[in-house]
Amino acid sequence: VEERLRQAQKMESIGHLAGGIAHDFNNLLFPIVGMAEILMEDLPEGSPEFENAQVIFESGKRGGELVKQILAFSRQTEHKMSPVRIQQVLKEVLNLTRATIPSFIEMEAQIQWDCGMILADATQIHQVAMNIITNAFHAVEQNGGKITVNLKEILIDEEDGEYSAIDSGRYALMSISDNGPGMPSDLINRIFEPYFTTKEQGKGTGLGLAVAYGLIKAHKGDIRVYSEPGKGTAFNVYLPLMEKMEMVDQQAPKEVHPTGD
Ligand code: ADP
Repeated sequence: VEERLRQAQKMESIGHLAGGIAHDFNNLLFPIVGMAEILMEDLPEGSPEFENAQVIFESGKRGGELVKQILAFSRQTEHKMSPVRIQQVLKEVLNLTRATIPSFIEMEAQIQWDCGMILADATQIHQVAMNIITNAFHAVEQNGGKITVNLKEILIDEEDGEYSAIDSGRYALMSISDNGPGMPSDLINRIFEPYFTTKEQGKGTGLGLAVAYGLIKAHKGDIRVYSEPGKGTAFNVYLPLMEKMEMVDQQAPKEVHPTGD
């Protein structure tokens, strides 16, 4: 109970911060998106400059979307759940990441393309993956290194003590690891706390993992972290796969056929 109370208080403090910064942040994004759009109008479509402006425009839009998501989440409002192909979400995240991280950082992805669907808010899953990959990038950006992203289906067994925080069943396991500096255990214990950051001012908010944790819990999933100083860090994100029946229910709303059809 105490732990749950602590968690609730953490979430509430995220809400306060989110409310405070969202307004300013949106004001900041306004000229970025607006000016990028004006640039795009002036530039020949398809030119490298046009495409650069488009990247600014799209990223700015995504930033605005993130603010909305954080607000929605902190107010405990709805999650727009629908059947989601997590491999598709991950592909978008990887494309976005590859376009922005320097080439001396190696990235490897192994995605099980026939992985089942999850019932999720796709934007929020996108956000979780982005937050964790951004951290992995920060972990390796100074001395170079490698980020590995994996997606596969797994079966979690009730007997399996390690997974006791979630129900048994089939899960999508998204694993994001890096060979950066890793973390000692006292640090690991604090990383999901809102505002906890070891990054220099302006670089980290300390919200990335707190938000990711809240979102994954809202999806009945779990996040596990494995880290060792000097070796690296791995984040395992578990999301329950939809049952076959659930998918039929979700995807094929009852059709009314006129008689004699
Ligand atoms: P922020 O990234 O803004 O600091 P997060 O909640 O995303 O906030 O992360 C909290 C802290 O967890 C980071 O400041 C960092 O110390 C630690 N951390 C997270 N991911 C990694 C990683 N892959 N390698 C090493 N440290 C990490």
